[in-house]
Amino acid sequence: MAQQPEQFKDLGLDNRLMAALEHQGLHTLTEIQDQAIPVILTGHDLIASSKTGSGKTLAFLLPALQRLIKTKALSKRDPRALILAPTRELAKQVYEQLRSLTSNNSINIALLLGGENFNDQIKLLRKQPHVIVATPGRLANHLTSRSLMLNGLELLIMDEADRMLDLGFAKELNQINDAADHRRRQTLMFSATLDHAQVNDMADKLLKAPKRIAVGAANAEHLDIEKRFYLCDHLDHKQALLQHILTTQSYQQAIIFTATRADTERLARLLETHNLSTAALSGDMSQAERNRIMDSFSRGQQKVLITTDVASRGLDLLQVSLVVNFDMPKQAEEYVHRIGRTGRAGAKGLALSLVGPKDWDAFKRVERFLQQDISFMTFEGLVGKFKGIRPNKKKATAKPAAKGKGKGYQGKGGSNAYKPAKKQAKTVKALKDRSDRLAPGTGLGSNDGMAPPKRKKPN
Ligand code: ADP
Ligand code: MG
Repeated sequence: MAQQPEQFKDLGLDNRLMAALEHQGLHTLTEIQDQAIPVILTGHDLIASSKTGSGKTLAFLLPALQRLIKTKALSKRDPRALILAPTRELAKQVYEQLRSLTSNNSINIALLLGGENFNDQIKLLRKQPHVIVATPGRLANHLTSRSLMLNGLELLIMDEADRMLDLGFAKELNQINDAADHRRRQTLMFSATLDHAQVNDMADKLLKAPKRIAVGAANAEHLDIEKRFYLCDHLDHKQALLQHILTTQSYQQAIIFTATRADTERLARLLETHNLSTAALSGDMSQAERNRIMDSFSRGQQKVLITTDVASRGLDLLQVSLVVNFDMPKQAEEYVHRIGRTGRAGAKGLALSLVGPKDWDAFKRVERFLQQDISFMTFEGLVGKFKGIRPNKKKATAKPAAKGKGKGYQGKGGSNAYKPAKKQAKTVKALKDRSDRLAPGTGLGSNDGMAPPKRKKPN
């Protein structure tokens, strides 16, 4: 049955694109590329999903460039193709791949990110780039200020389309859609997770009779990623586990996801005190700062990157072999994207998740999403008391959090599954002893990192 895997050379791509692929040592198509490229080349609109790390970027860039090379532009002035991505880091990464495919041909490209100088971008636009990669907020700003027109747009591509909607970019997407000519435009949507109702509504507006390709289900097992889950009592326990994980597991580079910006900074300081070179990234840093951090991490200058969900989508960092969810993500799909930062292009990855009482609901959502019964693992000497929350047991009495002492886990009382702060003191102490030099004041922040991440438009 085994069919010969399809090769790039069989696609009839332009020689310069072939040379660029050759240069990158790429020969065999991934499954999503095999399925999507021919459909895109026929000019159909497309909604495509496949697991993280399966090569979606080339699946849209190659046919897009092929089309631009082989056909005449509709307009001399306007960009021919626009690629939108939800975060600046992802847009930059797509741009880098685009650049490596266009270095040997005459296609001009531009990157327009929020947070960067608007006037510099206007100058860039005056050079009339053929392809623009952008975050939606900034692109919409250029439309509003009339520094950019999209009447001649031939291709609109949305990478991680669902995330753009999650981030509240529906208005900008509509504005972009309205600015471009529907009849002549081909529109593509890509993501690892595309089965939201919201995505369908947007797709109805933006795409014409789209074909759909889904390689595997979003919740299908990613066999290259080993998933493990650990129960935790409270913040101190999580920190002790994290520290244990980072000092005992073998990995090239690791990404730690936290729910809040305050946690990324605090954990970065904590890990630094344990001689783990660490970078912290969050959505409200300046763009220059974010670029600098991502560049240095992708060059391997730090072993660990701590971040909120800013980095959960799309980023392709081949050295990352370990992902730790310090907090469970609020949305189950986000779990898939976070752990998908590892196990890329066939490499093996390990994804560890810390599940405390406040993560429980989020954990159950992930469990349902993955359609698996997840069992928990333990690290010897670091086993806590929390054993999960049994459904339908007596209702939580929701006592207010024990505030004021600044000590111990400030959880809600009343759950049948974990003890109020006082009774935990012993465990906390034992864990503290284990985790030795926890810097004073680092362990007990004002929240345990399980507050919902602020929905903030990266623009
Ligand atoms: P996705 O968007 O599906 O998460 P990416 O497009 O970021 O995945 O690709 C993941 C990695 O796989 C990248 O490093 C990319 O260079 C590599 N890759 C893409 N296509 C191929 C291929 N056909 N053969 C080998 N590696 C590939
Ligand atoms: Mg991608």
